[in-house]
Amino acid sequence: MEDERIAYNAAIEALRLREYPMLQDTTYLDHAGTTLYAKSLIERFSADMIGNLYGNPHSASNSSQLTTRRIEDVRLRLLALFKADPDDFDVVFVANATAGIKLVTEVFRDQEEGYWYGYHRDAHTSLIGARETATQHRCFTTDAEVNAWVEEDGTASPRLGLFAYPAQSNMNGRRLPLDWTRHIRTRKQGSVYTLLDAAALVSTSPLDLSDANSAPDFTVMSLYKIFGFPDLGALIIRKAAGSVFDRRRYFGGGTVEMVVCLKEQWHAKKETLHERLEDGTLPIHSIMALDTAMSVHKELYNSLDEVSNHTAFLASKLYDGLTSLRHGNGTSVCHVYKDASSTYGDPSTQGPIVAFNLRNHCSGWVSNAEVEKLAAVRNLQLRTGGLCNPGGVASSLDLAPWEMKENFSAGQRCGNDNDIIRAKPTGMIRVSLGAMSTLKDVTLFVDFLSEFFVEDTPPLLVPPVVSLDMKPPTHSRLHVESLSVYPIKSCGAFGVPPGVAWGVRREGLAWDREWCLVHQGTGAALSQKRYPKMALIRPSIDLEAGVLRVQLTGLLRYSTFANEVTVPLSADPSLFAKDSMYKDGSAQVCGDQIQAKTYRSPQISAFFSQALGVACHLARFPAVGNGSGPLACVRHSKPHLQKSQRSSKMRVPGAFPETRPLMPGMTVSKPILLSNESPILTISRSSLNRLNEQIKAEGGKAAQSEVFRANIVVAENPHYPPGAEQPYAEDEWRYLQIGQQYFELLGPCRRCQMICVDQQTAERNQEPFVTLSKTRRFDGRVYFGEHTSHLARDSPYPLAQEAAIMVGDTVRTYFEDEACYDDVLHALIS
Ligand SMILES: *Cc1c(COP(=O)(O)O)cnc(C)c1O
Repeated sequence: MEDERIAYNAAIEALRLREYPMLQDTTYLDHAGTTLYAKSLIERFSADMIGNLYGNPHSASNSSQLTTRRIEDVRLRLLALFKADPDDFDVVFVANATAGIKLVTEVFRDQEEGYWYGYHRDAHTSLIGARETATQHRCFTTDAEVNAWVEEDGTASPRLGLFAYPAQSNMNGRRLPLDWTRHIRTRKQGSVYTLLDAAALVSTSPLDLSDANSAPDFTVMSLYKIFGFPDLGALIIRKAAGSVFDRRRYFGGGTVEMVVCLKEQWHAKKETLHERLEDGTLPIHSIMALDTAMSVHKELYNSLDEVSNHTAFLASKLYDGLTSLRHGNGTSVCHVYKDASSTYGDPSTQGPIVAFNLRNHCSGWVSNAEVEKLAAVRNLQLRTGGLCNPGGVASSLDLAPWEMKENFSAGQRCGNDNDIIRAKPTGMIRVSLGAMSTLKDVTLFVDFLSEFFVEDTPPLLVPPVVSLDMKPPTHSRLHVESLSVYPIKSCGAFGVPPGVAWGVRREGLAWDREWCLVHQGTGAALSQKRYPKMALIRPSIDLEAGVLRVQLTGLLRYSTFANEVTVPLSADPSLFAKDSMYKDGSAQVCGDQIQAKTYRSPQISAFFSQALGVACHLARFPAVGNGSGPLACVRHSKPHLQKSQRSSKMRVPGAFPETRPLMPGMTVSKPILLSNESPILTISRSSLNRLNEQIKAEGGKAAQSEVFRANIVVAENPHYPPGAEQPYAEDEWRYLQIGQQYFELLGPCRRCQMICVDQQTAERNQEPFVTLSKTRRFDGRVYFGEHTSHLARDSPYPLAQEAAIMVGDTVRTYFEDEACYDDVLHALIS
């Protein structure tokens, strides 16, 4: 048995090299999202399109007849794939499974008395949404509830009923009983119809509709989940149930024989179900591609049974691999959400999907946003979050409705970083396999988890040591190595020239992230995470000429006619478009939406759009408002003022107790309300050196300081004795004095894979994120650098000289203890 499977796996390995070139150098584990198409399929489809002339069906020309004939053949072929007799079944082509569900539930909605809708907890959102069209609805939270309801005799409700469920959960791959459809038909005496969502099931499993009496009335599926291509769905209707569609009100395109619309309103519907339900022109080319897809699938895999056996085998290996991972102290790493009724390796109860969350060695949950970032760096494609399966996820994670609503109010959304709330995960990780998955994918994934998430205890992280005897002379051992600003958010850095005193303001270094680029369609700010080439856009601040000068480097050099654009530093209102485009929900402060103003010049937009290959505008943030009084809400305009990770007691690096009010009547520039916003990012050269030693020890490529996009790089004085560097000493710093200015450290900066974008070439690397995540991960989060904010004396003279710092300034550090704190206080008051 096992030998046979291993031989089959070897055959798939060989086939994959040939047929799936897009899988080179990547590990694709999201087949439940969509599987991949074979090279032969695309080549053959393309040859078919080039070699034949296909017209719009419904006419007498040869090209039209050819299309009609081919489509009728494909219908039969698709029915045959599921052993559905064309005497008993018809197939309706739809855009996707959801469109099939809509078509069915809309005709139920159109019944005069309305309808009763029942659905299973494991349903995909596509099925759940239908309840909004029903007169009455019920969510069945267990299989037992369904069984009990089925056993109830007769037609309790005067209304027509529809019971819908997934043949396989798209969340954890559990396969639900297929015989419910038969039981419901017999027990409910035809008053309740059945809708089977087979989208997840048939992607890796056969479905047998040969017994029309026990088959679902309506079966929907997404064909791209079986073949990778075309983007097409199907609704298979049991003809005996077809009469419900007599009530369908809409008609359009080729669905009618004759329409009278001038003096009388009358139409005659077409005869067959599919003719009546396929509104408008069919996706003819997709349907032909389906023909080719079925041929190629058969040649490569022979049958869905073979796919089912192979993927079941892989899934059991994956499940065993995940459940056997243990931390050094013996606690398990993966918490798998498996239904008690299912068994990995048994295709009748379980499909090839594993849903799980990770725990650290203290059994705390690991943030999935962190897992995603590492997976992205390692080129692993998987899915995290709510997985479009709210019932399954809520019951697995034991989330009550009030918790979900509160989490929603607290800002949790499908796909954001905020995924552990009140020490509970709000989503999960899903790994799913398909026909062309192999044992190698499974091993690679298990190894990935063991590399990054299995912790030897005590944790691999050594808390930074600051030896006490070093303390007194340390105060002047540091200096400012460099100062950088990023005039356009996410674009290249502008290095402050040595000898220039650079302004420090409430909202950060002068001109830092004063501008951004916004997408013309969505109005969202662009970032390097999605557009790494932004690193090659180099803004500089020319104070003498009074302009922001933007140049292009590297690859972008010849991407546009102009080599450079300039924008005045003055915010002349006539430069801006009337309606500002950019709205950033995450930049909400005190309930206010913050908006940036877009430049109206088409030349400027064209310059950036051509450089990046994405339609965008340049935009500028409005000037910062003035706070009045110590607790006034100051409208910080810039979205980079991020929340830092500050919480008292927790000894993650740099996590300090809450700010204490300094003295009665005294205010700092940073009001308490906004105290955890970070206008400046500081990194330490010694820490970077340590990190690079670790990277090089593993044979990796050292990281440039630019990737961290710091504003201030603090370094040890060169004449200080060598070997006395103190990497990560910043974890213990509380305040900094730079030149004549004071700064407070707010907490460590959480990192993502954006630090892997080489700022010279815009290429993505694995480092430094991989090493950082092994050496600087606390509580599932990866930290490097410190959020910093300027502490200003409140000057009664508005024209007082602006606070400034320069490259080469001496840096003094203050640790978290009373004496030092009083020093700062003293300095600020005096
Ligand atoms: C993918 C999926 C759907 C949705 O399919 P679409 O093609 O996006 O409409 C619905 N139900 C299940 C079980 C699925 O896996």
